Amino acid sequence: MTRINGKTKIVGIFGWPVEHTLSPAMHNAAFDRLKMNYVYVPFPVESGRLGEAVNAIRALGLAGVNVTVPHKEKVMKFLDGLDGYARKIGAVNTIINKGGRLIGFNTDAYGFKKTLIEKKVVVKKKVVLILGAGGAAKAAGICIAEKNPEKIYIYDIDKKKSKALAVALNGTAVEKTSLTDILKNTDVLINATPAGMRPGDKPPVEISICKKTMFVYDLIYNRETELIKEAKAKGLKFSDGLDMLLYQGIRAFELWTRKKAPVEVMKHAILNEIKGRGGDA
Ligand code: NAP
Repeated sequence: MTRINGKTKIVGIFGWPVEHTLSPAMHNAAFDRLKMNYVYVPFPVESGRLGEAVNAIRALGLAGVNVTVPHKEKVMKFLDGLDGYARKIGAVNTIINKGGRLIGFNTDAYGFKKTLIEKKVVVKKKVVLILGAGGAAKAAGICIAEKNPEKIYIYDIDKKKSKALAVALNGTAVEKTSLTDILKNTDVLINATPAGMRPGDKPPVEISICKKTMFVYDLIYNRETELIKEAKAKGLKFSDGLDMLLYQGIRAFELWTRKKAPVEVMKHAILNEIKGRGGDA
């Protein structure tokens, strides 16, 4: 464990709630391994106090923070600058403090893209179905749209959100009734809904009639979802949300410290933390 002294640099996470975050385990393990004088702390920040919390980054000289639910969009107005993905997606999950100037980044997009590369998922000229049209779906969708897919379909239980994301991505908003037909031709299925986070949650779609080559990307990382269990049972290639979580953390670590992140150390730290919590995070 890092020995805290007068030179310790502080990073952390702003969220509400933050009790379940896996990020302190991941980042503190990396700081320990690289013998860096940094510490990562969870900060529970209530919605009405976000502006004060952001000012505290400047006042207390924090090196930077991650930002999670429910602050990713609202935090933008308190910052001094935004990188390209944060602006495009309209959400920030990482802030760096450059001598009092706070710059917002969206490293979820990096985490999503890096996973596609690691898993060798081809998107160009392929059919992609995105379930959900919230912040995570937008980050994923913008990365997908950059890769020139044949078609992007979006389904969210909230039709207005599906339509808004479809317009932003030049995709097509679809109804639940057409999902079975679309799934027959889908090459990449992305679950960006919370369906699957709780034990007993049904998978957001039935994948019994999908192609054998379909890639299933479930952004949920707190447990193995029914969707992932079904993908495994069918022998499909898949990724759960842990890879995205890991790589968004790696990018944040590198933005704060300008040092190469120890990927394996951070990965093991997440897995150990989940194991320590009895399998579910
Ligand atoms: P969000 O903003 O709440 O968006 C989720 C959307 O899905 C909402 O519009 C919701 O509608 C809709 N929805 C809920 N159940 C649905 C269903 N069965 N079928 C279709 N649409 C449904 O949440 P988010 O921040 O985008 O996060 C979505 C998921 O991604 C969460 O599980 C989160 O943990 C995960 N995530 C993972 C990472 C990672 O690093 N792996 C990063 C970010 C997010 P209503 O609002 O009407 O319920």
